[in-house]
Amino acid sequence: MDCLFCKIIAGEIPSAKVYENEWIYAFRDIAPQAPVHVLIVPKTHICCADGITADNSLYVAKIFEAIPAIAKAEGLANGYRIVNNCGEDGCQTVKHLHFHLMGGQKLTEKMA
Ligand code: AMP
Ligand code: ZN
Repeated sequence: MDCLFCKIIAGEIPSAKVYENEWIYAFRDIAPQAPVHVLIVPKTHICCADGITADNSLYVAKIFEAIPAIAKAEGLANGYRIVNNCGEDGCQTVKHLHFHLMGGQKLTEKMA
């Protein structure tokens, strides 16, 4: 499958790894929009939030279980934002489910 994030998970395309376990992979966004900008992805191809089902939701749970530890390791003691873009109106550019973890400064109050 021609998926950028599947290739990153497989190590076929380099990335700056932040965290990894059996289910998930986290790496630095190549075009950071905050001092800390990490992408967290499931190690299975799920297209987007719209593709989450009872069969694959464990991966989503594993992502959210890991977020406090990743945030702590990244020094985000003062808080952070988690973002998921889904589909055309959500401006999703990479069609492999991913959550943006952003922080390191006071973020804008606008979300849309
Ligand atoms: P989205 O617009 O929500 O689909 O987010 C895709 C994100 O992937 C963007 O923030 C991009 O900067 C990021 N991105 C694209 N290619 C790479 C790459 N090779 N390594 C790390 N991040 C990437
Ligand atoms: Zn994929």
